[in-house]
Amino acid sequence: MTAPIQIPESVHALLSPSKAHMWLACLGALGAAKGLPQRPPSRYAAEGTAYHDVARRALVEGKDCSAYIGDRYEVEGFKFTVDAENAELAQVYVDAIRAIPGKRFVEVDLEYSGLLGLPKLSNTGQPVAAGTGDCVTIDYENHVIHSDDLKFGKGDVVYASVLRTDGSGLRDPNAQLALYAAAAVERYELLGIEDDWMVKMAIHQPRANGGHYDSFMMTVRDLKAWTAAQKLAANRAYTLWTFGPERVEVGDLTPGEKQCRWCPLSGNCKAQTNQVLSRFPVSSAAAPPSLVTLDDMQLTEALDHADAIEQWLSALRAEALSRALNGHVLPNWKLVEGRRGNRNLNTEGRLQVDATVRAELGIEEPEDPSELTNLEVKDAIDFALGKAAYKPQELLTVAKLQKPLEKRAPQLWALLQQHITQADGKPSLERMEDPRPPMADMRPEFPIAAPGVSSLL
Ligand code: SF4
Repeated sequence: MTAPIQIPESVHALLSPSKAHMWLACLGALGAAKGLPQRPPSRYAAEGTAYHDVARRALVEGKDCSAYIGDRYEVEGFKFTVDAENAELAQVYVDAIRAIPGKRFVEVDLEYSGLLGLPKLSNTGQPVAAGTGDCVTIDYENHVIHSDDLKFGKGDVVYASVLRTDGSGLRDPNAQLALYAAAAVERYELLGIEDDWMVKMAIHQPRANGGHYDSFMMTVRDLKAWTAAQKLAANRAYTLWTFGPERVEVGDLTPGEKQCRWCPLSGNCKAQTNQVLSRFPVSSAAAPPSLVTLDDMQLTEALDHADAIEQWLSALRAEALSRALNGHVLPNWKLVEGRRGNRNLNTEGRLQVDATVRAELGIEEPEDPSELTNLEVKDAIDFALGKAAYKPQELLTVAKLQKPLEKRAPQLWALLQQHITQADGKPSLERMEDPRPPMADMRPEFPIAAPGVSSLL
């Protein structure tokens, strides 16, 4: 058996593109969190790295991702074997990239420290502002430079642009994508890219929402202007990082849902806590005194903060648990043993079974009844319970059956369509940024009065 493909841990830049939403929005975050332990490597992130490599190899070697099924990877201590389901998902990205015309560069080192007026390396030797772009394609015919980013996670759906908060309805590029794209423009500009070309930034997230894709376009000129506009913030963030936590003040911190979410200081940050606690009163001054329930505006105001409050609470709980585990005595709180894990049966083990157990299981007696019978745990349970010991056999889901059936029995798959039903999606309240169109009017024929309104009728 060949050794697994090892992907060494990459050195992250200080002002890394993946954290741009944090350091551009909260200028003191890097400085305040300097020296804090980083989040431990996660299996999900490591799996994403492995399938990025599968996609890279497919693009570079001109193969499909299925060619790598069975390959083993080791990433940050986690081991994976490339499987058909995930290879197929990585292939969705590979197919989309192959459909883009032009000259393609895969896994490109992209450096944007010069664009932001920052040094290349910090005084500790760490890269300051750089990253690896998944794919850059220069389409000379249509005058478009493409910067594509593969995300293999499915929890957080990532969009290529964000709605401005000034009420203009305009959108800005996702900062991570924009920094990659700006660095790509700079790197390849001498190949003939002009300011009036378009830049297309795209997110491919094949595991999210049944296959999520989002893109955003702007001119090279506008992207350069956007990048130049980030210089001041980037320099302040870098300077505050050089100062370190002792010299960062609460006024340097700007809490917000996006930036606080993965910040190492979250749950232990005064600015974040002050902001969350100040949010609980909900426009009480504007409410007519006789109403005790929220009107739509007040409800929306509270709802706007729901994600941030939930994130803050979970980060606060994590910080408190970590302090308690480190010996801090927290008034009114104590450490207890939580719920125990599920019991696991080691079915690989063996049992020495005597005559009494043999009789119970109906196993034939050996010539010498005092002899012990050596049985695998699994076989012993099988003797005792037969089929009742096993989970019932179940068909795979339609989503998992589709590909193999389409390949092996396309006629049957066509016939099966009449037996496949799909429930409509339940109404879900989402922020306006969500790209799905709004649902049709869902009001009941005979409207129900909103709480608090009946008293006014
Ligand atoms: S928790 Fe939020 S406010 Fe505090 S440093 Fe981090 S990003 Fe800034």
